[in-house]
Amino acid sequence: MVGMQSMVTLLREARGWTQTELAERAAMSQAVISKVETGAIEFHPERLQRLAEALDCRPESLEQNAALPSIEITCLHRRRASTMSVSTMKRIEAVTHLSRISIEGLLDGIELAPARTLERIEVLPGRGPAEVARELRHRWNVPSGPIANLIGLVESAGVVVVFRSFGTTGQDAVSTWPQDSQRPPMMLVNADLSADRLRFTVAHELGHLVMHALPVDSQEAEANVFAGEFLAPADEIRAELEGLTTSDFRRLMALKGQWGMSMAALIRRAHDLETISDRQYREFQVRLGKLGWRTSEPGDVARENPSVVDKIIELQRHEHDYSDDDLARLAGMTEAAFRRHYLAAPETAATRPQLRLALDE
Ligand SMILES: [Zn+2]
Repeated sequence: MVGMQSMVTLLREARGWTQTELAERAAMSQAVISKVETGAIEFHPERLQRLAEALDCRPESLEQNAALPSIEITCLHRRRASTMSVSTMKRIEAVTHLSRISIEGLLDGIELAPARTLERIEVLPGRGPAEVARELRHRWNVPSGPIANLIGLVESAGVVVVFRSFGTTGQDAVSTWPQDSQRPPMMLVNADLSADRLRFTVAHELGHLVMHALPVDSQEAEANVFAGEFLAPADEIRAELEGLTTSDFRRLMALKGQWGMSMAALIRRAHDLETISDRQYREFQVRLGKLGWRTSEPGDVARENPSVVDKIIELQRHEHDYSDDDLARLAGMTEAAFRRHYLAAPETAATRPQLRLALDE
């Protein structure tokens, strides 16, 4: 099923603007914006130009409707569903659609040749998410022990991973299978996640891509179990979590560095594997809360970055001799927006340059 949506709507929602906000920025009335979005009036050149400027896009993009192949959004999971507004949800969906349009544009003339196959493995009676994770590790020949480069592994199976700011911390990522099997699956990850959350999120999303074709109530819990097992198989980590006590943060910190998982995720893992009791698990939660570690915890995990999109851009530059403007055109973006999204490293709390403040006497 293919739905049609005005590009104006998509670009507006991706910025989190109402029609009134866009109207103000483009110096026209909300009524006109509304008519433009429903196709009730034609663009005239001057209006087109003003809208393109307000939305920082190419005027020609606005004249097309975006054919939205009702992308299967396997994980538009809302950790804080009750607090996430409709406009935020629409924003994330719009960013997902626009990213797919750009990536598919950039892939023009390129066929991805993944080293691994990403197949669906269904959850069945007798084959739960942990078994699926073990099966995938086996099919992909993942060596035992921690996975050093998780994003690289996922990308080697043909998943295009893109970091994007979602303008909210309520959503970690969105993964989509395309309707057209010739197109790659895509994982859009919130650029503002900490390095440890990032790894767990990517493993969680991988679980969705592998296990879930249709939304089911149990999907978030299943994806979490999958992620835990994929990152730290029970057979390997159980012994290291045996006898853990609620004051043993030193041990958790060491395991965090070793396995690339947050202490919170390790505690959950210990609980799932029953190496700690329900009481200990609750006590841990209280302690984490008191320490303020539920939102941000200490301890370093090496930050991973995707590389496939950079390689696609390099290939287009060298094989087709494309300029930045040509590439931006393929991506359906202005050159400035293209540079900001695809050529600059995404600015995150971790990469933002430190300011230096000299303290003299
Ligand atoms: Zn999810």
